[in-house]
Amino acid sequence: MTTDADKLAAEGRLNRGVAGGRQILITNDDGIESDALGPLADALAAVGDVDIIAPERNWSGASHSITLYRPLRVRSTQLRTGQNAYMTDGSPTDCVRLGVLGFLKRKPDLVVSGVNRGSNLGDDITYSGTVAAAMEGLLSGLPSIAISIAAFGANIDFAPSAAFAALLARNIFDKGFAPDALLNVNVPALPRDAIAGVEVTRLGKRTYRDQLVERLDPYGNPYYWVGGPAVSAEAEEGTDVAALRAGKISVTPIYLDLTNHALIAELAKWDWGWSGPVEVAAD
Ligand code: MN
Repeated sequence: MTTDADKLAAEGRLNRGVAGGRQILITNDDGIESDALGPLADALAAVGDVDIIAPERNWSGASHSITLYRPLRVRSTQLRTGQNAYMTDGSPTDCVRLGVLGFLKRKPDLVVSGVNRGSNLGDDITYSGTVAAAMEGLLSGLPSIAISIAAFGANIDFAPSAAFAALLARNIFDKGFAPDALLNVNVPALPRDAIAGVEVTRLGKRTYRDQLVERLDPYGNPYYWVGGPAVSAEAEEGTDVAALRAGKISVTPIYLDLTNHALIAELAKWDWGWSGPVEVAAD
């Protein structure tokens, strides 16, 4: 019998990790204190062996930061829910690099980043530390999942999102997965029975209402705070934004090639007869 995994392997499309064990690396850009880590680790422990490496603090919005000019410290710790974990003063991407480059006894076969507090839809993924950690997994040749829940604050029920991550992990281990994509998953903040289904989507558009707020510190010096809610004006059918709005779990395959292919031919028509140094005229 030829399985999907056999076919993918024959086509050279199977990630190296999938053929091996079922070692799962979990990280979370919200930091080691995130109460999503316990439920996610429990759910994934039914699929494979789990390691947790998370940053000491919240790195949300850190995107694909890496630490270059100072050492990384790692300490072993325990989640409030009892699981053993490691915490580092590095970024979410550093967590994956540590795990993949030899800190862990067994190299991961799958990276799961999340469950993030707050959705990562459309343009959000360019800021997201959650998605970036999965990007690092992908760049390391591992199947990788970023998973986020559309909720903030306390008392979030992470059980449905954790269970869905486990379902995806099982699919990836059983079927293999393309080596040039990661999965960006967004789960509505609904009880499991109320979730309207699963939709495989493309990225939608986000509109941000960020504002610059200037205030004075106690010494009279101005400081600035940039922020505001992410709003989605209209959600096109088939996008992650629309699926989540419809109460569905959104699964978007993400590709790291940001090339605008349509513009290559257009740019080729520009005048490229440039050579030598650029001269800057004096005033
Ligand atoms: Mn986050």
